Amino acid sequence: PLPAGRGGGDSSSAPRRAAASAKQYMGSIENSPPSCLGGAGGGINISLEEILKLYEQSWIDDWYESDKQKQEYKKKGREILKEFYQKHKDNWPNAAYLEKGFNIKLRGTRKHENTKTQKHENTKTQKHENTKTQKHENIGTTAVGGEVYTVRGVIDRIDEEDGKLKIVDYKTGSPKDKLTFNEKEQLLIYQMAVSEIFRQEISSLAFYYLNNNSEVEFLGTDEELDKTKDKILNIIKDIKKGEFPAKPSQLCKFCDFYSICEFRKS
Ligand code: SF4
Repeated sequence: PLPAGRGGGDSSSAPRRAAASAKQYMGSIENSPPSCLGGAGGGINISLEEILKLYEQSWIDDWYESDKQKQEYKKKGREILKEFYQKHKDNWPNAAYLEKGFNIKLRGTRKHENTKTQKHENTKTQKHENTKTQKHENIGTTAVGGEVYTVRGVIDRIDEEDGKLKIVDYKTGSPKDKLTFNEKEQLLIYQMAVSEIFRQEISSLAFYYLNNNSEVEFLGTDEELDKTKDKILNIIKDIKKGEFPAKPSQLCKFCDFYSICEFRKS
């Protein structure tokens, strides 16, 4: 998120810049010759000063409400990077991919299609089943029966450890140690994508909270993955029907339409 007025919020800008520097550094690891990796990111020599230099180079002066605010954010970002460095300097994660884009296909079932379409199709039920086989057929297949939709995204970081993949997303908000289904959703989508793209075992999904350099880790169950897919398809169904109900929340104050929206929550 960017500073207020740019669709961003409170103190999240500095952490985001710090994340960018951290990712830039992790990128230098990724692009190094394999011999430099020394397994699991070990054997890399980079100083904190070099990381902070990357941070300075990545910094953008725009969008702050005042010079004071800008300096505060910048300082916060530096602190985050220092802690990040101390935490990882003796055992850097083996970052196999950074900002990894994905593009997966989801096939809707009849219950996700609009009534008008349903009327013209035969009535044989094609239920959204829970088996693994069914799940993989529904992602990355061509349309047979249900419509096929494309879901695109970008994953912050994918680490490889002992042949397994760990998916990491940097978060700038308040650190959490327990997650609701809705909070897990983003990583669940990433799990679906990575299992489709790599066909490699996924060890875990992790949100990395930059504010205190903590992590919360989990792995989506089949039930959670099915629920996620179901939710995406239902959202697509509503979009196709032209239904976009307002969802006022605490985030309204960061919304670009705040000043003109009749539903805004102040
Ligand atoms: S309810 Fe209105 S102000 Fe709030 S996020 Fe939606 S469009 Fe923006």
